[in-house]
Amino acid sequence: MLHVVVIGAGFGGLKAVEELRTRHAGVAITLVAPGPRFLYWPNLVWVPSGWREPEDLTCDVRDWLFRRRAAYHEGRVVAVRDGGRSVVTDSGALVADGLVVASGATTPAAVPGTEHVYAICGGLDAARAMRDRLRALAGGRLVLGFADNPAHPPAARGTPVLELAFTLDEQLRRERRRARFRLDVVLPPSADVAHGALAGLATRLRARGVAVHPGRRIERFAADRVVTDRESLASDLTVFSPAMSGPAWLAESDLPATASGHVAVDARARVDGLERVYAVGDAAAFPGPAWQTKQAHTAELQAETAARNLARELDGRAPRERVRHEVVHVVDGLGHGAFVFRDGRGEWALPPTRLGHYLKLGLEREALRKYAPRGRRPRARGAVPAAGPRPRFPLPRL
Ligand SMILES: Cc1cc2nc3c(=O)[nH]c(=O)nc-3n(C[C@H](O)[C@H](O)[C@H](O)COP(=O)(O)OP(=O)(O)OC[C@H]3O[C@@H](n4cnc5c(N)ncnc54)[C@H](O)[C@@H]3O)c2cc1C
Repeated sequence: MLHVVVIGAGFGGLKAVEELRTRHAGVAITLVAPGPRFLYWPNLVWVPSGWREPEDLTCDVRDWLFRRRAAYHEGRVVAVRDGGRSVVTDSGALVADGLVVASGATTPAAVPGTEHVYAICGGLDAARAMRDRLRALAGGRLVLGFADNPAHPPAARGTPVLELAFTLDEQLRRERRRARFRLDVVLPPSADVAHGALAGLATRLRARGVAVHPGRRIERFAADRVVTDRESLASDLTVFSPAMSGPAWLAESDLPATASGHVAVDARARVDGLERVYAVGDAAAFPGPAWQTKQAHTAELQAETAARNLARELDGRAPRERVRHEVVHVVDGLGHGAFVFRDGRGEWALPPTRLGHYLKLGLEREALRKYAPRGRRPRARGAVPAAGPRPRFPLPRL
């Protein structure tokens, strides 16, 4: 029986398993990941305000995999060799007739002083630590920023950082302590705040009293400041999202890598020059427009295409489907979400509405309910109210 290995239990890996099982009933599938939990990253921005506990955003995927007749191999991939036929993990090696790499991004610490920052992209513990620090602050300055990867501009987490600026601003207003805080957002040169949806977001942030500093390279962090190539900003709480790179294990592997450190793939999601080997999501660098940011929706589109093409190759046919380039963002501001869509024909955006917020909520519920074990669906967490102060924890006294 042919055996496909899928690396990663995130958006791309799970979608690849689902689509491959639909297209190819007979293939054996093994998903490899360091742990069996899926993390719904997009709504981590609701953790600082207390509207989500980090645990609300994860679920165990082993039952879902079992129902798709896919095996789970717990382990961390350390190398891929023999042109994708051998997957080496820290808990044993697997032989693969087909491979889908969906192991997400790594964030090499390129800026000195990152021990002083809170990384919203760092996962549950980082989100929890940031929430606790914000609760303990009586006032001060919050500086938010992100860096891009000059060799691959889409490898930056810009939208989550901007979204966090909106949610923090709204949170502090509802807690009636916004006047005691300054908010600053530092954007790298690739973030074009003069055009498109980003221009609209920057204008809205400024209208809410958030200082936006475009075109900056962050040079270093200290405990009490952020130093850019133009200024030094005092900071009581710094949130930073580093530039993304590809899998750390790529250096030990014989898969082709781009200058940005990602797995090099073609327009069909197939790894350059290799048969039956695909890469999707944050781990891969696709040819295509610079506006094609790395996001969950994209990872799923790419995984669908990869699985369909791989299924054809397993049947001895040539891959033919191309990845669709498309961006869908809901930029939530606690209770109201702005909707941004972009494809090859253009970009359009809707201002913040309740509908946008419910869309973001609905996407979270759909993903977590789908992947959670049967009979142990995560408790449904509700929408954030449209307005009104509602501190959910004791605030520090002045
Ligand atoms: C704070 C935040 C907010 C975001 N908001 C949005 C949003 O609103 N909308 C949106 O569309 N996108 C959003 N994104 C982006 C989105 O979450 C990612 O683009 C998406 O998760 C990429 O999917 P992926 O499958 O490539 O990687 P991931 O979902 O990160 O999954 C990677 C998987 O690989 C596993 N893995 C890692 N290393 C190894 C290894 N060595 N061996 C085996 N397995 C490994 C991991 O454990 C994980 O299971 C956000 C991201 C962040 C951080």
